[in-house]
Amino acid sequence: MARRVLILGAGFGGLEIATLLSEAAPADLEVTLIDKGEGFVFGFSKLDVLFGKASVEQVRIPYADLAKPGVRMVRETITAIDPEARRVSTDGGEFEGDAMVIALGADYDFEATPGLAAGGEEFYSVAGAERAAAAVAAFERGHVLIGVCGAPFKCPPAPSECALLLDDELHARGVREQCRISFVIPFGRPVPPSPETSAALEAEFERRGIELIPGRRVTALDPERSVAVLDDASELGFDLFLGVPKHRAPDVVLASGIAEDGYVPVDPATLRTELPGVYAVGDVATAGVPKAGVFAEGAGRIVAQELLAELLDGESPGRHLGQGTCYIEFGDGRVASVEIDFLSGPERTGIFNAPSEAVAAEKSEFGSSRRARWFGA
Ligand SMILES: Cc1cc2nc3c(=O)[nH]c(=O)nc-3n(C[C@H](O)[C@H](O)[C@H](O)COP(=O)(O)OP(=O)(O)OC[C@H]3O[C@@H](n4cnc5c(N)ncnc54)[C@H](O)[C@@H]3O)c2cc1C
Repeated sequence: MARRVLILGAGFGGLEIATLLSEAAPADLEVTLIDKGEGFVFGFSKLDVLFGKASVEQVRIPYADLAKPGVRMVRETITAIDPEARRVSTDGGEFEGDAMVIALGADYDFEATPGLAAGGEEFYSVAGAERAAAAVAAFERGHVLIGVCGAPFKCPPAPSECALLLDDELHARGVREQCRISFVIPFGRPVPPSPETSAALEAEFERRGIELIPGRRVTALDPERSVAVLDDASELGFDLFLGVPKHRAPDVVLASGIAEDGYVPVDPATLRTELPGVYAVGDVATAGVPKAGVFAEGAGRIVAQELLAELLDGESPGRHLGQGTCYIEFGDGRVASVEIDFLSGPERTGIFNAPSEAVAAEKSEFGSSRRARWFGA
């Protein structure tokens, strides 16, 4: 019986599990939540940092504020995971659980794209978005190339949002006429499960003069020549490169031997790995859904229900992984959404809700409700 639950990573997945276990608060349950960061940052806040709308301090919700009955928050770096023993080592000690949930997210593999670190910026990490913000703010003339270096990547609409918000930013400073924006994406269309969303984004790119290069991936940068090399060996010159680095599970997960092809395989219905008592949720796992916070949270909910059912001799949960709403910044303060459903029918679908004030309000509520639930703020 899982009396001691070890949650590795306090992102969307880990925070949701810790919250649900704390709320149910069965007697004797000990939950340990471990994260190396100072605080939680919503993925979409990185775009606010990139475009100078907020500082890192403003968007980071400190883990010091997390006070959940029955949950011990440990701010340490996990240095080794022994999945069979459900034990981890950190820079501060050792922890063991009856159940262990790996929720460590996806990391970035800069080496996979030669020249990226030296010749380009990235906006997918907090530090990267902060650095790139200075380059964006100073940019006045030339070619900005937004380039995706590998799939899968977090939040498939995010680079499209970056292109539209960049167009806004350059217009606001009166320099758009002197700038070219192009956008390389490995998919055939911007949001593959939703032709309607893709069409709306493509129309918006066309209206704004943003050049979309679909079906291509950036494989390398040549910093000397300021050139990006694509996977068909063609080259594109740039003055500023804003990249989405190739993703993979964090090194500590890869070193544990539990990953296959870069991620942790799980049963998408239960989020169980092959090892007893070991689960993986969110971006670190291969669960057949996009890498997005909303799916990591949904997976966390399933695991929390599983653990509680086991502890309280209750029924196992209904499984809903595969449905979730992603919000998309369309520029000019407009927000659209796409309701992804990978479960209900034979086809993966995505229903598009056009930009509106109501959707913008929904996105804002999405953030503030999580903040309130997870941090009591
Ligand atoms: C620009 C951008 C925009 C996005 N927009 C959206 C959006 O609008 N909607 C949406 O749903 N998703 C969005 N996302 C995606 C979303 O942020 C991620 O999919 C989500 O955070 C994944 O949740 P997770 O719990 O799997 O991992 P994470 O939230 O990444 O959490 C993993 C945690 O593990 C910790 N960790 C990692 N390694 C260690 C270690 N060795 N020791 C200790 N701790 C460790 C990290 O510090 C981190 O806190 C966006 C992402 C980006 C980059």
